Amino acid sequence: MDTASRSRIKAYAAQAADTPLAPFQVDRREPRADDVVIESKFCGVCHSDIHQARDGWGGSVFPMVPGHEIAGIVSAVGSAVTKFKIGDRVGVGCFVDGGASIGKCGRDDEQYHLDTLVLTYNGYEHDKKTPTFGGYSQAITVKQDYVLRIPDNLPLDVAAPLLCAGITLYSPLAHWKTGPGKKVAIIGLGGLGHMGVQIAHAMGAHVTVLSQSLAKQADGTRLGADDYRATSDPATFTSLAGAFDLIVNTVSAPIDWSALLGLLKIDGTMVQVGVPEEAVPVNAFALIGGRRRLAGSLIGSIPETQEMLDFCGTHGIAAEIEVIPMSRINEAYERVLKSDVRFRFVIDLSSI
Ligand code: NAP
Ligand code: ZN
Repeated sequence: MDTASRSRIKAYAAQAADTPLAPFQVDRREPRADDVVIESKFCGVCHSDIHQARDGWGGSVFPMVPGHEIAGIVSAVGSAVTKFKIGDRVGVGCFVDGGASIGKCGRDDEQYHLDTLVLTYNGYEHDKKTPTFGGYSQAITVKQDYVLRIPDNLPLDVAAPLLCAGITLYSPLAHWKTGPGKKVAIIGLGGLGHMGVQIAHAMGAHVTVLSQSLAKQADGTRLGADDYRATSDPATFTSLAGAFDLIVNTVSAPIDWSALLGLLKIDGTMVQVGVPEEAVPVNAFALIGGRRRLAGSLIGSIPETQEMLDFCGTHGIAAEIEVIPMSRINEAYERVLKSDVRFRFVIDLSSI
């Protein structure tokens, strides 16, 4: 590619919250000294893409090129790049710049410094004026410190969803010390949930899936679940009362958090990672009755994302995916909203 064709690339964008995604062009910046240019091969479709493209959380920036589960190949590097070379297999997740050194743990809590975080899309560069455009596109230019290395044994298509779904489950599971002897429940067997089951199982915990129905039970068991229950069955809430050390709730819609808190042991924790578009009420008795904790967790830091990728490489863990051409993105969104995906749509970006 010559310089001109490298900087203007094809993408898909939402022009407004109520319009379907459609072809669009993006001008990527000329690489700076510490930039890596990535030819994007695959991009996962996260439910957050849908929330944001439809402005479900408010404050969306249009036009929007969604996509923060990017896997591709390095096609050029700036003069000061030391970590990557042309041909490397790499990924980009939910943020492409930040305030690396400002957190109390330095780069280990960078994702919580939202004031300085530059999101991969639906945000602005540090100048607060230049919009960022995400992975539903042919290429992306990213500072080397925000590029991840994909293990050699993980194909790029199934690795792409690790960049958001994988780290979003790995981080709370690691933080709350998932391991042998711990009973963990994952609510929702979608894109995030199916990564959570595999990772918690690989960490050695006893894993239960809490799904709306038993329709995906065979898949859940194959992915590593020891138990699988339907939240539509009232017996689930009596037989599993007080059962879990940790529950990770990946559900994208408002559900009965109070009932779910009742499934925790004394001192147990329910971590919210799903982000419903409406506030969810919680009954105080559900918390005080067992000194229980309701917590939240947002993706993970760059060092932790690399740790997660290496963990997945070691354990042979990746996403189960349905690959789609770019032109089927709007149909894919409708199917995600109906929980009709096993378990992540991944866009083949050669189809743009
Ligand atoms: P997803 O693939 O749609 O999975 C969500 C799962 O939740 C569904 O598969 C379904 O599982 C269950 N579910 C959906 N609607 C439900 C309802 N009305 N009642 C009960 N269960 C329902 O979505 P995802 O990509 O995994 O993302 C899930 C949520 O996490 C989204 O809100 C997303 O924005 C958020 N997210 C947060 C972070 C973070 O850093 N905290 C990062 C990425 C995404 P079953 O069919 O098994 O019931
Ligand atoms: Zn995401």
